Amino acid sequence: TDFDKLGVAKPFQIALKAKGYSQPTPIQENAIPSILEGRDLLGLAQTGTGKTAAFAVPLLQRLLESRFRAAPKSVRSLILTPTRELADQITKNIKAYAGRTKMYSSCVVGGVPFPPQFRALQRGLDVLVATPGRLLDLHRKNGVSFDELEIFVLDEADQMLDMGFIAELEEIAYLLPKERQTLFFSATMPKEIHDLADRFLTNPVEVST
Ligand code: AMP
Repeated sequence: TDFDKLGVAKPFQIALKAKGYSQPTPIQENAIPSILEGRDLLGLAQTGTGKTAAFAVPLLQRLLESRFRAAPKSVRSLILTPTRELADQITKNIKAYAGRTKMYSSCVVGGVPFPPQFRALQRGLDVLVATPGRLLDLHRKNGVSFDELEIFVLDEADQMLDMGFIAELEEIAYLLPKERQTLFFSATMPKEIHDLADRFLTNPVEVST
């Protein structure tokens, strides 16, 4: 398949096929090989372009290849997104793409009780999808550790800024290990976003749809 040519491993090819994706979208074609190589990435892409699979599949593949079990409360990757709806949607996709690879993922968003989120984090996770406010709350309550974080994804960066999450974003970025892979997606690229990307990313590949 064409996903094969991009370097996507068999278990993920099967999961993508099961979702009915036969051809990669342009953003997937442009982003997947660089992410698999471990590069930082700045993606100019709107929702509806297939950007979720463009970052989620290579992220899962890299974590699977290094086969490392996260310590309790630790997360190996973090996907930050501005809204609950987006977080839920990304989590569903992550679970579908991960298929039967036995990777642990969970979602933490505001407006719902804390205990199940604490419990989900207790064993350590490969992927945590989160909105900024609740993630910081959990961190302050000692429910999550970023010491083992390998990959950080910022989704819908422009919406994040529009919603006033800039202080939270800075606070979270400050908590993450400096040595990590960072993927940064935004539908628009005003100066503010570009400045943020300059600070968060190291020698990024730039892709657009
Ligand atoms: P996204 O931009 O990630 O929100 O994805 C938009 C929609 O496209 C979602 O419904 C995906 O399930 C779908 N999609 C993503 N990648 C592909 C693909 N390669 N082929 C067909 N549909 C896809």
